[in-house]
Amino acid sequence: MNSLYRHGRIVFLAVLFHVKSFREFLVRFDMLKRISKADKEILDNIKRMEAEIVRRSQELEEQKARERVEVSQLRAKQIQIQLELVEVRNLLAGVQKEIDKLEKQERAERERLARLALSRRRGAVAVAAVKMPGFVFPVAGTHAYSSTFGDYRSGGRSHQGNDIYALKGTPVVAVVNGTIEELSRSGLGGIILKLRGDDGNTYSYMHLNAYAPGVGEGMRVSAGQVIGYVGNTGNASNGPDHLHFEIHPGGGGAIDPYPILRGVE
Ligand SMILES: [Zn+2]
Repeated sequence: MNSLYRHGRIVFLAVLFHVKSFREFLVRFDMLKRISKADKEILDNIKRMEAEIVRRSQELEEQKARERVEVSQLRAKQIQIQLELVEVRNLLAGVQKEIDKLEKQERAERERLARLALSRRRGAVAVAAVKMPGFVFPVAGTHAYSSTFGDYRSGGRSHQGNDIYALKGTPVVAVVNGTIEELSRSGLGGIILKLRGDDGNTYSYMHLNAYAPGVGEGMRVSAGQVIGYVGNTGNASNGPDHLHFEIHPGGGGAIDPYPILRGVE
């Protein structure tokens, strides 16, 4: 009994001797044994639980430490990804800038071409739009012509008028009111007529097949009056019939008649 309870000895003995019979003593003794046994089991349980708690908390600490490491690794990875993202964004911004620049260049080029096309159209309209009051088309019949003024001609000459193609014998008329200034012949122009317009300009007709009957130098003619016929005299003799027509403002150097011819079409 001493070995069982050293410190609680007095209490223990007191419990043992407050009995009225040996039988009661035995009952109490047995009860105390049971109690002490139960206490020991409780203590053992507590110790096991304490050990378990220590073990669990150690595990938890280890787990926490592992998680801290994982978290810091994840943070590092996150920072790396953010840095890469920044790099990619910078790269994209650079590419976008380059695209913007190219688009701007392309837009500028398109606008330049559009302006060029517009100015060309305006030019074409201007060519077609020259109207001369009282001016009549020089060939009275089916014809065809194009702007060939300034084109190269044999002997280093440049073409000083427009060629108006029509069938031989198609009437040729005075383009304005005026006076027949000159009737002549040459190896180049063939049968030639020069009309001095009341407007101050001189008009030349070449390669005629013939003059109209009664036409002579100094004769007054009015716009639309027949003065000759389409032919291929002069250096045109091997080619198609056409009227070579020139306009000399104020009797001076020739200008391109094409815009004025277009103006009366
Ligand atoms: Zn010609």
